[in-house]
Amino acid sequence: MYDFLIVGAGYAGSVLAERLAREAGKQVLLVDRRNHIAGNAYDLYNDDGILIHKYGPHIFHTNSKEVFEYLGQFTEWRPYEHRVEASVDGQLVPIPINLDTINKLYGLNLDSFGVEEFLKKVAEPIEHVRTSEDQVVSKVGRELYEKFFKNYTKKQWGMDPSELDASVAARIPVRTNRDNRYFTDTYQAMPLHGYTRMFERMLAHPNIHIMLNTDYRSIEGEIDYKEMIYTGPVDEFFDNCYGKLPYRSLEFKHETHNVSVFQPAPVVNYPNENLYTRITEFKYLTGQEHLKTSIVYEFPLAEGDPYYPVPRPENQELYKKYKALADAMPGVHFVGRLATYKYYNMDQVAAQALTMFKKIMGEKQEEHHAAADRATVQLAHSFAMAHKMRTNGNGSALPHEYLEH
Ligand code: FAD
Ligand code: UDP
Repeated sequence: MYDFLIVGAGYAGSVLAERLAREAGKQVLLVDRRNHIAGNAYDLYNDDGILIHKYGPHIFHTNSKEVFEYLGQFTEWRPYEHRVEASVDGQLVPIPINLDTINKLYGLNLDSFGVEEFLKKVAEPIEHVRTSEDQVVSKVGRELYEKFFKNYTKKQWGMDPSELDASVAARIPVRTNRDNRYFTDTYQAMPLHGYTRMFERMLAHPNIHIMLNTDYRSIEGEIDYKEMIYTGPVDEFFDNCYGKLPYRSLEFKHETHNVSVFQPAPVVNYPNENLYTRITEFKYLTGQEHLKTSIVYEFPLAEGDPYYPVPRPENQELYKKYKALADAMPGVHFVGRLATYKYYNMDQVAAQALTMFKKIMGEKQEEHHAAADRATVQLAHSFAMAHKMRTNGNGSALPHEYLEH
Protein backbone atom coordinates (compact mmCIF):
# COMPACT_ATOMS: atom_id res chain seq x y z
CA MET A 1 0.00 0.00 0.00
CA TYR A 2 1.51 3.31 -1.11
CA ASP A 3 0.61 6.63 0.44
CA PHE A 4 1.19 8.37 -2.89
CA LEU A 5 1.23 7.39 -6.52
CA ILE A 6 3.18 10.12 -8.32
CA VAL A 7 2.78 10.31 -12.07
CA GLY A 8 5.82 11.86 -13.78
CA ALA A 9 9.45 11.99 -12.58
CA GLY A 10 10.21 15.56 -13.75
CA TYR A 11 10.67 18.52 -11.39
CA ALA A 12 7.09 18.45 -10.12
CA GLY A 13 6.94 14.72 -9.40
CA SER A 14 10.50 14.33 -8.13
CA VAL A 15 10.43 17.28 -5.72
CA LEU A 16 7.19 15.97 -4.24
CA ALA A 17 8.49 12.41 -4.05
CA GLU A 18 11.56 13.63 -2.19
CA ARG A 19 9.61 15.81 0.25
CA LEU A 20 6.91 13.24 0.96
CA ALA A 21 9.44 10.46 1.53
CA ARG A 22 12.16 12.32 3.39
CA GLU A 23 10.22 14.96 5.27
CA ALA A 24 6.88 13.22 5.84
CA GLY A 25 7.95 9.55 5.92
CA LYS A 26 5.44 8.58 3.22
CA GLN A 27 5.68 5.56 0.96
CA VAL A 28 5.83 6.76 -2.63
CA LEU A 29 5.53 5.05 -5.98
CA LEU A 30 6.91 7.30 -8.73
CA VAL A 31 6.08 6.27 -12.30
CA ASP A 32 7.11 7.72 -15.63
CA ARG A 33 6.20 6.50 -19.07
CA ARG A 34 9.60 7.51 -20.37
CA ASN A 35 12.67 5.35 -19.81
CA HIS A 36 14.34 7.90 -17.56
CA ILE A 37 13.83 10.29 -14.64
CA ALA A 38 14.22 14.13 -14.71
CA GLY A 39 11.40 14.81 -17.22
CA ASN A 40 12.30 17.40 -19.81
CA ALA A 41 15.41 18.39 -17.86
CA TYR A 42 16.96 14.97 -18.57
CA ASP A 43 20.59 15.08 -19.65
CA LEU A 44 22.94 12.28 -20.67
CA TYR A 45 26.40 11.59 -22.05
CA ASN A 46 26.10 10.83 -25.78
CA ASP A 47 28.16 8.26 -27.68
CA ASP A 48 31.07 10.69 -27.86
CA GLY A 49 30.99 11.31 -24.11
CA ILE A 50 29.55 14.83 -24.34
CA LEU A 51 26.88 15.86 -21.84
CA ILE A 52 23.76 16.90 -23.78
CA HIS A 53 20.19 17.87 -22.92
CA LYS A 54 17.90 15.46 -24.71
CA TYR A 55 14.92 17.85 -24.74
CA GLY A 56 16.71 21.08 -25.62
CA PRO A 57 18.78 23.58 -23.63
CA HIS A 58 17.93 23.82 -19.93
CA ILE A 59 19.53 26.71 -18.11
CA PHE A 60 18.84 27.09 -14.42
CA HIS A 61 18.06 30.56 -13.07
CA THR A 62 15.95 31.73 -10.16
CA ASN A 63 15.32 34.55 -7.73
CA SER A 64 14.12 32.09 -5.13
CA LYS A 65 16.66 31.42 -2.39
CA GLU A 66 14.40 28.65 -1.12
CA VAL A 67 14.42 26.79 -4.45
CA PHE A 68 18.13 27.31 -5.02
CA GLU A 69 19.02 26.03 -1.56
CA TYR A 70 16.56 23.17 -1.76
CA LEU A 71 18.03 21.87 -5.04
CA GLY A 72 21.51 22.62 -3.74
CA GLN A 73 21.10 19.72 -1.31
CA PHE A 74 21.34 17.39 -4.29
CA THR A 75 23.98 19.04 -6.44
CA GLU A 76 26.96 21.30 -6.44
CA TRP A 77 26.53 24.25 -8.73
CA ARG A 78 28.66 25.59 -11.55
CA PRO A 79 28.16 29.36 -11.93
CA TYR A 80 26.88 30.04 -15.42
CA GLU A 81 25.35 33.18 -16.96
CA HIS A 82 23.60 32.46 -20.21
CA ARG A 83 24.16 34.52 -23.37
CA VAL A 84 22.33 34.39 -26.68
CA GLU A 85 23.05 35.95 -30.07
CA ALA A 86 20.47 36.43 -32.80
CA SER A 87 21.25 36.04 -36.48
CA VAL A 88 19.84 39.24 -38.00
CA ASP A 89 20.69 40.96 -41.29
CA GLY A 90 23.63 38.63 -41.85
CA GLN A 91 25.33 39.22 -38.51
CA LEU A 92 25.16 37.97 -34.93
CA VAL A 93 23.93 40.51 -32.39
CA PRO A 94 22.98 40.19 -28.71
CA ILE A 95 19.42 39.29 -27.72
CA PRO A 96 17.81 40.61 -25.46
CA ILE A 97 18.12 43.79 -27.48
CA ASN A 98 20.61 46.10 -25.75
CA LEU A 99 22.90 49.03 -26.51
CA ASP A 100 25.33 46.86 -28.49
CA THR A 101 22.51 45.32 -30.52
CA ILE A 102 21.31 48.73 -31.70
CA ASN A 103 24.81 50.05 -32.38
CA LYS A 104 25.92 46.96 -34.30
CA LEU A 105 22.74 46.67 -36.31
CA TYR A 106 22.60 50.32 -37.37
CA GLY A 107 26.34 51.12 -37.35
CA LEU A 108 25.86 53.68 -34.57
CA ASN A 109 27.86 54.62 -31.55
CA LEU A 110 25.14 55.58 -29.08
CA ASP A 111 25.50 55.61 -25.32
CA SER A 112 22.72 54.44 -22.98
CA PHE A 113 21.02 57.82 -23.12
CA GLY A 114 21.20 57.79 -26.92
CA VAL A 115 19.66 54.32 -27.11
CA GLU A 116 16.84 55.40 -24.80
CA GLU A 117 16.14 58.32 -27.14
CA PHE A 118 16.36 56.02 -30.16
CA LEU A 119 13.86 53.56 -28.70
CA LYS A 120 11.52 56.35 -27.61
CA LYS A 121 11.39 57.54 -31.22
CA VAL A 122 10.68 54.14 -32.77
CA ALA A 123 8.38 52.67 -30.09
CA GLU A 124 4.65 52.81 -30.88
CA PRO A 125 2.48 53.83 -27.92
CA ILE A 126 -0.13 51.15 -27.20
CA GLU A 127 -2.66 51.83 -24.49
CA HIS A 128 -3.64 48.28 -23.58
CA VAL A 129 -0.82 45.85 -24.17
CA ARG A 130 -2.58 42.51 -24.70
CA THR A 131 -0.59 40.53 -27.24
CA SER A 132 3.06 39.66 -27.82
CA GLU A 133 3.06 41.99 -30.82
CA ASP A 134 1.81 44.86 -28.62
CA GLN A 135 4.43 44.01 -26.04
CA VAL A 136 7.37 44.30 -28.42
CA VAL A 137 6.14 47.07 -30.72
CA SER A 138 5.34 49.27 -27.71
CA LYS A 139 8.94 48.93 -26.51
CA VAL A 140 11.14 48.79 -29.62
CA GLY A 141 8.90 49.67 -32.57
CA ARG A 142 7.88 47.71 -35.63
CA GLU A 143 11.22 47.37 -37.40
CA LEU A 144 13.03 45.68 -34.52
CA TYR A 145 9.88 43.67 -33.81
CA GLU A 146 10.00 42.32 -37.34
CA LYS A 147 13.73 41.62 -37.24
CA PHE A 148 13.82 39.81 -33.88
CA PHE A 149 10.36 38.63 -32.87
CA LYS A 150 7.85 38.21 -35.65
CA ASN A 151 9.33 35.23 -37.48
CA TYR A 152 10.81 33.52 -34.45
CA THR A 153 7.44 33.65 -32.73
CA LYS A 154 5.55 32.51 -35.81
CA LYS A 155 7.84 29.52 -36.10
CA GLN A 156 7.87 28.69 -32.41
CA TRP A 157 4.13 28.96 -31.83
CA GLY A 158 2.64 28.44 -35.30
CA MET A 159 0.76 31.72 -35.00
CA ASP A 160 1.30 35.43 -35.33
CA PRO A 161 2.54 37.28 -32.20
CA SER A 162 -0.72 39.27 -32.36
CA GLU A 163 -2.52 36.05 -31.39
CA LEU A 164 -0.37 35.26 -28.34
CA ASP A 165 -0.49 36.72 -24.82
CA ALA A 166 1.91 39.58 -24.09
CA SER A 167 3.48 37.41 -21.36
CA VAL A 168 5.26 35.26 -23.96
CA ALA A 169 7.37 38.04 -25.50
CA ALA A 170 7.61 39.75 -22.10
CA ARG A 171 9.99 36.95 -21.10
CA ILE A 172 12.60 38.83 -23.14
CA PRO A 173 13.49 42.26 -21.71
CA VAL A 174 14.82 45.29 -23.61
CA ARG A 175 17.93 47.00 -22.24
CA THR A 176 19.62 50.31 -22.89
CA ASN A 177 22.87 49.23 -21.19
CA ARG A 178 25.46 46.67 -22.32
CA ASP A 179 24.22 43.80 -20.14
CA ASN A 180 24.05 40.90 -22.59
CA ARG A 181 22.96 38.21 -20.15
CA TYR A 182 19.80 36.34 -21.14
CA PHE A 183 18.64 36.28 -17.51
CA THR A 184 19.18 38.67 -14.62
CA ASP A 185 18.09 36.39 -11.77
CA THR A 186 19.98 36.40 -8.49
CA TYR A 187 20.96 32.76 -8.82
CA GLN A 188 22.26 31.52 -12.17
CA ALA A 189 24.05 28.18 -12.21
CA MET A 190 24.08 24.72 -13.73
CA PRO A 191 24.14 21.48 -11.72
CA LEU A 192 27.84 20.60 -11.76
CA HIS A 193 27.33 16.98 -12.78
CA GLY A 194 24.13 17.55 -14.72
CA TYR A 195 20.40 17.46 -14.05
CA THR A 196 19.98 13.70 -14.15
CA ARG A 197 22.60 13.21 -11.45
CA MET A 198 20.82 15.83 -9.33
CA PHE A 199 17.50 13.99 -9.74
CA GLU A 200 19.15 10.64 -8.91
CA ARG A 201 20.33 12.06 -5.62
CA MET A 202 16.94 13.62 -4.93
CA LEU A 203 15.19 10.30 -5.44
CA ALA A 204 17.67 8.08 -3.59
CA HIS A 205 15.48 7.26 -0.60
CA PRO A 206 14.25 3.86 0.62
CA ASN A 207 10.61 5.07 0.66
CA ILE A 208 10.69 6.02 -3.05
CA HIS A 209 10.04 3.26 -5.54
CA ILE A 210 10.49 4.15 -9.19
CA MET A 211 8.88 2.46 -12.19
CA LEU A 212 10.02 3.67 -15.60
CA ASN A 213 8.49 2.81 -18.99
CA THR A 214 5.17 2.78 -17.15
CA ASP A 215 2.05 4.70 -17.99
CA TYR A 216 0.19 5.02 -14.69
CA ARG A 217 -3.00 3.88 -16.37
CA SER A 218 -1.52 0.47 -16.96
CA ILE A 219 -0.94 -0.14 -13.24
CA GLU A 220 -3.48 1.86 -11.29
CA GLY A 221 -5.88 -1.06 -10.99
CA GLU A 222 -3.06 -3.29 -9.74
CA ILE A 223 -1.70 -1.23 -6.89
CA ASP A 224 -3.14 0.33 -3.77
CA TYR A 225 -2.48 3.96 -3.06
CA LYS A 226 -4.15 6.63 -0.99
CA GLU A 227 -3.55 9.76 -3.04
CA MET A 228 -2.24 10.64 -6.44
CA ILE A 229 0.01 13.45 -7.66
CA TYR A 230 -0.38 13.95 -11.38
CA THR A 231 2.14 15.96 -13.42
CA GLY A 232 1.17 15.04 -17.00
CA PRO A 233 -1.13 17.01 -19.33
CA VAL A 234 -4.32 17.89 -17.47
CA ASP A 235 -6.66 17.34 -20.43
CA GLU A 236 -5.26 13.84 -20.97
CA PHE A 237 -6.06 12.93 -17.35
CA PHE A 238 -9.71 13.70 -18.05
CA ASP A 239 -9.79 11.91 -21.44
CA ASN A 240 -9.99 15.32 -23.19
CA CYS A 241 -13.61 15.48 -22.04
CA TYR A 242 -13.89 19.23 -22.72
CA GLY A 243 -11.73 19.02 -25.87
CA LYS A 244 -7.95 19.00 -26.29
CA LEU A 245 -5.85 21.82 -24.88
CA PRO A 246 -3.36 23.13 -27.45
CA TYR A 247 0.33 22.44 -26.85
CA ARG A 248 3.40 23.23 -28.88
CA SER A 249 5.90 20.50 -29.62
CA LEU A 250 9.48 20.40 -30.88
CA GLU A 251 11.71 18.07 -32.81
CA PHE A 252 15.30 18.05 -31.57
CA LYS A 253 18.03 17.37 -34.09
CA HIS A 254 21.23 16.50 -32.22
CA GLU A 255 24.60 16.58 -34.00
CA THR A 256 28.22 16.13 -32.96
CA HIS A 257 30.93 17.93 -34.90
CA ASN A 258 34.57 17.11 -35.16
CA VAL A 259 35.67 20.59 -34.07
CA SER A 260 36.07 21.92 -30.55
CA VAL A 261 33.87 25.01 -31.09
CA PHE A 262 30.87 25.18 -33.46
CA GLN A 263 29.47 28.69 -32.93
CA PRO A 264 30.56 31.84 -31.09
CA ALA A 265 27.76 31.80 -28.47
CA PRO A 266 26.01 29.16 -26.32
CA VAL A 267 22.77 29.72 -28.24
CA VAL A 268 22.16 31.37 -31.60
CA ASN A 269 18.56 32.36 -32.34
CA TYR A 270 17.28 32.41 -35.92
CA PRO A 271 14.39 34.90 -36.20
CA ASN A 272 14.19 34.33 -39.96
CA GLU A 273 13.05 31.83 -42.59
CA ASN A 274 15.07 28.81 -41.35
CA LEU A 275 12.79 26.07 -40.10
CA TYR A 276 14.61 25.86 -36.77
CA THR A 277 14.38 28.53 -34.07
CA ARG A 278 17.76 28.14 -32.39
CA ILE A 279 20.99 26.17 -32.16
CA THR A 280 22.52 25.36 -28.78
CA GLU A 281 26.10 24.25 -28.22
CA PHE A 282 26.13 22.29 -24.97
CA LYS A 283 29.75 22.64 -23.88
CA TYR A 284 29.20 26.34 -23.15
CA LEU A 285 26.42 25.39 -20.73
CA THR A 286 28.14 22.51 -19.02
CA GLY A 287 31.75 23.75 -19.07
CA GLN A 288 32.85 20.38 -20.36
CA GLU A 289 36.15 20.21 -22.24
CA HIS A 290 36.20 17.90 -25.25
CA LEU A 291 37.86 17.82 -28.66
CA LYS A 292 34.46 17.45 -30.34
CA THR A 293 31.29 19.47 -29.74
CA SER A 294 27.58 18.63 -29.64
CA ILE A 295 24.76 20.91 -30.73
CA VAL A 296 20.98 20.73 -31.02
CA TYR A 297 18.59 22.36 -33.47
CA GLU A 298 14.99 22.96 -32.38
CA PHE A 299 12.26 22.55 -35.00
CA PRO A 300 8.81 23.60 -33.72
CA LEU A 301 5.87 21.29 -34.42
CA ALA A 302 2.11 21.35 -33.87
CA GLU A 303 1.90 17.61 -33.13
CA GLY A 304 4.13 15.44 -30.97
CA ASP A 305 5.07 15.36 -27.30
CA PRO A 306 3.51 18.37 -25.57
CA TYR A 307 6.27 20.74 -24.42
CA TYR A 308 4.69 24.18 -24.20
CA PRO A 309 1.21 25.29 -23.12
CA VAL A 310 0.09 28.01 -25.53
CA PRO A 311 -0.69 31.22 -23.61
CA ARG A 312 -3.75 32.88 -25.13
CA PRO A 313 -7.16 33.78 -23.70
CA GLU A 314 -9.27 31.05 -25.31
CA ASN A 315 -6.86 28.35 -24.09
CA GLN A 316 -6.99 29.80 -20.60
CA GLU A 317 -10.80 29.58 -20.71
CA LEU A 318 -10.65 25.91 -21.65
CA TYR A 319 -8.02 25.24 -19.00
CA LYS A 320 -10.29 26.84 -16.39
CA LYS A 321 -12.87 24.12 -17.04
CA TYR A 322 -10.29 21.40 -16.49
CA LYS A 323 -9.04 23.20 -13.41
CA ALA A 324 -12.54 23.20 -11.90
CA LEU A 325 -12.70 19.45 -12.52
CA ALA A 326 -9.22 18.95 -11.07
CA ASP A 327 -10.14 20.95 -7.97
CA ALA A 328 -13.21 18.77 -7.49
CA MET A 329 -11.15 15.59 -7.32
CA PRO A 330 -10.06 15.09 -3.73
CA GLY A 331 -7.20 12.65 -3.57
CA VAL A 332 -5.57 13.86 -6.78
CA HIS A 333 -3.17 16.82 -6.82
CA PHE A 334 -2.22 18.47 -10.12
CA VAL A 335 1.25 20.02 -10.23
CA GLY A 336 3.69 21.08 -12.95
CA ARG A 337 3.89 22.79 -16.31
CA LEU A 338 1.40 20.63 -18.20
CA ALA A 339 -0.83 19.66 -15.27
CA THR A 340 -1.50 23.33 -14.49
CA TYR A 341 -1.10 24.53 -18.10
CA LYS A 342 1.41 27.25 -17.21
CA TYR A 343 4.48 28.35 -19.16
CA TYR A 344 6.70 27.72 -16.13
CA ASN A 345 10.48 27.51 -15.92
CA MET A 346 12.15 24.78 -13.87
CA ASP A 347 12.47 26.89 -10.74
CA GLN A 348 8.80 27.88 -10.89
CA VAL A 349 7.77 24.24 -11.09
CA ALA A 350 10.07 23.36 -8.18
CA ALA A 351 8.52 26.24 -6.18
CA GLN A 352 5.01 25.10 -7.11
CA ALA A 353 5.84 21.57 -5.93
CA LEU A 354 7.28 22.81 -2.63
CA THR A 355 4.11 24.85 -2.06
CA MET A 356 1.98 21.83 -2.91
CA PHE A 357 3.90 19.77 -0.36
CA LYS A 358 3.09 22.31 2.34
CA LYS A 359 -0.54 22.35 1.23
CA ILE A 360 -0.83 18.57 1.30
CA MET A 361 0.67 18.48 4.78
CA GLY A 362 -1.68 21.25 5.92
CA GLU A 363 -4.67 19.45 4.48
CA LYS A 364 -3.92 16.40 6.55
CA GLN A 365 -5.17 18.33 9.56
CA GLU A 366 -8.03 20.10 7.82
CA GLU A 367 -10.43 18.10 5.64
CA HIS A 368 -10.49 19.31 2.05
CA HIS A 369 -13.75 20.65 0.66
CA ALA A 370 -13.74 21.46 -3.02
CA ALA A 371 -16.06 24.29 -4.03
CA ALA A 372 -17.43 23.19 -7.37
CA ASP A 373 -20.85 22.98 -8.97
CA ARG A 374 -22.75 19.70 -8.75
CA ALA A 375 -22.22 18.68 -12.39
CA THR A 376 -18.46 19.12 -12.08
CA VAL A 377 -18.41 17.19 -8.82
CA GLN A 378 -20.35 14.32 -10.43
CA LEU A 379 -18.00 14.25 -13.39
CA ALA A 380 -14.99 14.25 -11.05
CA HIS A 381 -16.62 11.41 -9.16
CA SER A 382 -16.91 9.28 -12.29
CA PHE A 383 -13.24 9.94 -13.09
CA ALA A 384 -12.24 8.97 -9.57
CA MET A 385 -14.18 5.71 -10.02
CA ALA A 386 -12.55 5.11 -13.37
CA HIS A 387 -9.15 5.58 -11.76
CA LYS A 388 -10.15 3.03 -9.10
CA MET A 389 -8.94 5.30 -6.36
CA ARG A 390 -9.00 3.98 -2.85
CA THR A 391 -8.47 6.99 -0.70
CA ASN A 392 -10.95 6.30 2.09
CA GLY A 393 -10.72 2.55 2.26
CA ASN A 394 -14.19 1.83 0.88
CA GLY A 395 -13.42 1.95 -2.80
CA SER A 396 -14.20 5.62 -3.33
CA ALA A 397 -11.91 8.58 -3.68
CA LEU A 398 -14.52 11.07 -2.65
CA PRO A 399 -15.75 12.19 0.75
CA HIS A 400 -19.31 11.07 1.56
CA GLU A 401 -20.95 14.40 0.91
CA TYR A 402 -20.04 14.03 -2.77
CA LEU A 403 -21.52 10.57 -3.25
CA GLU A 404 -24.91 9.98 -4.82
CA HIS A 405 -27.42 8.63 -2.29
P1 FAD B 1 7.98 17.36 -17.14
O1 FAD B 1 9.43 17.60 -17.03
O2 FAD B 1 7.34 17.36 -18.49
O3 FAD B 1 7.66 15.98 -16.42
C1 FAD B 1 6.41 15.33 -16.53
C2 FAD B 1 6.68 13.84 -16.67
O4 FAD B 1 5.43 13.16 -16.59
C3 FAD B 1 7.30 13.46 -18.00
O5 FAD B 1 8.56 12.84 -17.80
C4 FAD B 1 6.28 12.49 -18.62
O6 FAD B 1 6.88 11.39 -19.30
C5 FAD B 1 5.50 12.03 -17.41
N1 FAD B 1 4.14 11.59 -17.71
C6 FAD B 1 3.15 12.30 -18.33
N2 FAD B 1 2.04 11.55 -18.45
C7 FAD B 1 2.31 10.34 -17.88
C8 FAD B 1 1.57 9.15 -17.70
N3 FAD B 1 0.30 9.02 -18.16
N4 FAD B 1 2.15 8.10 -17.07
C9 FAD B 1 3.46 8.19 -16.65
N5 FAD B 1 4.21 9.29 -16.82
C10 FAD B 1 3.64 10.37 -17.41
N6 FAD B 1 13.13 25.84 -17.88
C11 FAD B 1 14.12 26.60 -17.33
O7 FAD B 1 14.05 26.95 -16.15
N7 FAD B 1 15.23 26.96 -18.05
C12 FAD B 1 15.38 26.59 -19.36
O8 FAD B 1 16.39 26.94 -19.99
C13 FAD B 1 14.36 25.80 -19.95
N8 FAD B 1 14.47 25.43 -21.24
C14 FAD B 1 13.50 24.65 -21.80
C15 FAD B 1 13.66 24.26 -23.14
C16 FAD B 1 12.69 23.47 -23.73
C17 FAD B 1 12.88 23.06 -25.17
C18 FAD B 1 11.54 23.07 -23.00
C19 FAD B 1 10.48 22.21 -23.63
C20 FAD B 1 11.37 23.47 -21.68
C21 FAD B 1 12.34 24.26 -21.07
N9 FAD B 1 12.24 24.67 -19.74
C22 FAD B 1 13.22 25.44 -19.17
C23 FAD B 1 11.05 24.32 -18.93
C24 FAD B 1 11.25 23.03 -18.10
O9 FAD B 1 11.50 21.96 -18.96
C25 FAD B 1 9.97 22.78 -17.29
O10 FAD B 1 9.64 23.88 -16.49
C26 FAD B 1 10.08 21.56 -16.36
O11 FAD B 1 10.85 20.52 -16.90
C27 FAD B 1 8.69 21.08 -16.07
O12 FAD B 1 8.70 20.03 -15.13
P2 FAD B 1 7.38 19.16 -14.91
O13 FAD B 1 7.70 18.18 -13.83
O14 FAD B 1 6.21 20.03 -14.77
O15 FAD B 1 7.15 18.41 -16.31
N1 UDP C 1 11.38 35.32 -28.85
C1 UDP C 1 11.56 35.84 -30.11
N2 UDP C 1 12.83 36.00 -30.58
C2 UDP C 1 13.92 35.65 -29.86
C3 UDP C 1 13.74 35.14 -28.58
C4 UDP C 1 12.45 34.96 -28.10
O1 UDP C 1 10.60 36.12 -30.80
O2 UDP C 1 15.05 35.82 -30.36
C5 UDP C 1 10.00 35.16 -28.32
C6 UDP C 1 9.38 33.85 -28.84
O3 UDP C 1 8.00 34.03 -28.97
C7 UDP C 1 9.73 32.90 -27.72
C8 UDP C 1 9.49 33.79 -26.50
O4 UDP C 1 10.00 35.07 -26.91
O5 UDP C 1 8.90 31.77 -27.74
C9 UDP C 1 10.15 33.35 -25.23
O6 UDP C 1 11.54 33.11 -25.47
P1 UDP C 1 12.38 32.12 -24.54
O7 UDP C 1 13.79 32.18 -25.00
O8 UDP C 1 12.09 32.44 -23.13
O9 UDP C 1 11.73 30.71 -24.92
P2 UDP C 1 11.97 29.23 -24.34
O10 UDP C 1 13.40 29.15 -23.89
O11 UDP C 1 10.97 29.05 -23.23
O12 UDP C 1 11.67 28.36 -25.51
